[in-house]
Amino acid sequence: MTRIVFLGPPGAGKGTHAARLAESRGLQHISTGDMLRAAVEQGTRLGQEAKSFMDQGNLVPDDLIIDMLFETMSDAGWILDGFPRTLPQAEALDRRLRARGQGLDKVLLFDVPEDELVARLTSRLTCRSCGAIYNKRSRPPKEEGVCDRCGGVVSTRPDDRPEAVAERLRVYAELTAPLVGYYQASGTLKRVAADGSIPEIRAEIEALLEPES
Ligand code: AMP
Repeated sequence: MTRIVFLGPPGAGKGTHAARLAESRGLQHISTGDMLRAAVEQGTRLGQEAKSFMDQGNLVPDDLIIDMLFETMSDAGWILDGFPRTLPQAEALDRRLRARGQGLDKVLLFDVPEDELVARLTSRLTCRSCGAIYNKRSRPPKEEGVCDRCGGVVSTRPDDRPEAVAERLRVYAELTAPLVGYYQASGTLKRVAADGSIPEIRAEIEALLEPES
């Protein structure tokens, strides 16, 4: 079974590439950000608790995220996109996998310079229904404001406003970047130079997932 983690700062392309790879390989695409946005849209208790953390660019508390994720996660193949984001989350994932006699195959770290991340996030558009990702300049939906995939409303996420973007990058550096060392130590980490075009990055990901790499 294939179990992959996509690690990297917001705006690095994890969501775009996780969706494509999951589709081509028949894997479950698990995006904790998409799950939380769906909970916010539906107005569930979790959504109400998570919303203010998300809008300000902060992380949602570990226990809420871990419970939400483990309820959904199958024992089959998956790509985790946006989880883990803290050391306690990574440790909880390891414990869960170990208890099932499973492990992670690869952790792909998406490397993008910070000025490029800011440019991408502040021009990003997201479908509020299915989470499909567009870009105002380079990849707009065919019809303005309408998702090509599901017909839902495409708009700027509240946390892609410049103030929230700055906070998300700060939170990444403080709480998530230490996971690079954690996964390097376990020998599963591979770096993706993720500042090229979508087809280039896709090819790089495919090459890194070859068994011998
Ligand atoms: P994303 O779509 O991955 O950028 O996530 C959007 C927001 O959801 C983040 O800025 C956090 O507020 C929250 N979030 C998503 N995944 C996690 C996680 N693993 N831990 C804590 N908060 C998360």
